[in-house]
Amino acid sequence: MPTASLPPDSRRLRIGILSANPRSYSIRRLVEAGRARGHRMHVLEPTEFSILVEAERPMLYYRDHEVKQLDAVIPRIGASITFFGTAVVRQFEQMGVFCLNSAEAIARSRDKLRSIQSLSRHHVGLPKTAFVKSREVLPAAIDHVGGAPLIIKLLEGTQGIGVILAEHAKTAEAIVETLHAGKQNVLLQAFIQESRGKDIRAFVVGGRVVAAMRRIAQGDEFRSNVHRGGRAEPVDLDPEYERAAVRAAQVMGLRVAGVDMLESNEGCKVMEVNSSPGLEGIEGATGVDVAGRIIDYVEKEILFPEVDVRQRLALSAGHAVMDVPVEAGSPLADRSLQELALRERDIVVLTITRDNEVISVPRGSHVLRVGDNILCYGNTEELKQLVPPRKRRKSKSAVPPPATPRDRT
Ligand code: ADP
Ligand code: MG
Repeated sequence: MPTASLPPDSRRLRIGILSANPRSYSIRRLVEAGRARGHRMHVLEPTEFSILVEAERPMLYYRDHEVKQLDAVIPRIGASITFFGTAVVRQFEQMGVFCLNSAEAIARSRDKLRSIQSLSRHHVGLPKTAFVKSREVLPAAIDHVGGAPLIIKLLEGTQGIGVILAEHAKTAEAIVETLHAGKQNVLLQAFIQESRGKDIRAFVVGGRVVAAMRRIAQGDEFRSNVHRGGRAEPVDLDPEYERAAVRAAQVMGLRVAGVDMLESNEGCKVMEVNSSPGLEGIEGATGVDVAGRIIDYVEKEILFPEVDVRQRLALSAGHAVMDVPVEAGSPLADRSLQELALRERDIVVLTITRDNEVISVPRGSHVLRVGDNILCYGNTEELKQLVPPRKRRKSKSAVPPPATPRDRT
């Protein structure tokens, strides 16, 4: 087992792993990797906590002991206890403990619709997906995703359970109506035929893909999940897939993620982003010490626990965060931040997004170009002046009806 050297200011860390399966391969490997680096590892069952809330004093009890002095928490929250498990993680966050994945990000990733909605504005390829409630609009939604054959998915399924391939539009309608009658939320998705029975799982740790595999389904099964009998082989990721995986994890706010992607004729399509990806398949297929990479990352990032930026900024009355597009003819175009003197107007530019790149804390010499998006924080009255008038009007107009959804690609 390779032993990483600790950063100079680091000490023996006390790391808690939240998991209901202490004996599973993933947990055993994380404990082993932590101990090999000199840390004290504690596996804690999420359901054994009591969450105690009072002003200025968030507390956690584990069985009958108050939890103190944990330096870091690695949440491995199973889908069956998302609600309580994320509440425990949130409590650790309130106590200022570094949590590898935030409660918010875990909850977001649990819902397949919410996940791809979050990803849809961030240059990540996605299979066309529709979500409807009323049966009247069902046929139009099926058309929108390209008609049959199509995929129907439970919003919160895992391990391939809750994913159905419908060969005909009428069957799809019947399945959706049946599931709706049982109060199940489902989404409709284009079936990526050319990727039938296989997908790519990229394991992302701290903004990098540390290992990747291709999973191949057994026989004529269309789902490639290992739990459905799929086998895994290592894969050299194409840069396009690597970028998509990293970006998907970042947009979801997950520092550790398993990103599942389909290989379509149009390129990479992200299907889902898992917040507690298993280690057995990926370490077995690739030979990479993924557990070790996770612990190394915890050591490196321990000083950056979750900060709820939105909440903090909202406390400052009269100020807001705004994403401002630089459009043709905008007074912002082709001018440097210095010339625009935004700081004098009580506005700070946090990032500039240009094509696929993000420039953080840009300097005054940066020149804005048409197509850029600038993320600003500042005085709301001043921010309003940055928005093109047409855009302001547009935001009031009606949303197009679901029967005629507009295609963004
Ligand atoms: P789960 O959370 O149950 O793993 P996924 O959305 O990852 O659900 O789907 C499970 C499997 O089904 C995928 O690994 C893939 O093999 C197959 N699959 C899912 N969606 C599609 C799709 N749109 N086109 C083709 N195959 C799909
Ligand atoms: Mg999956």
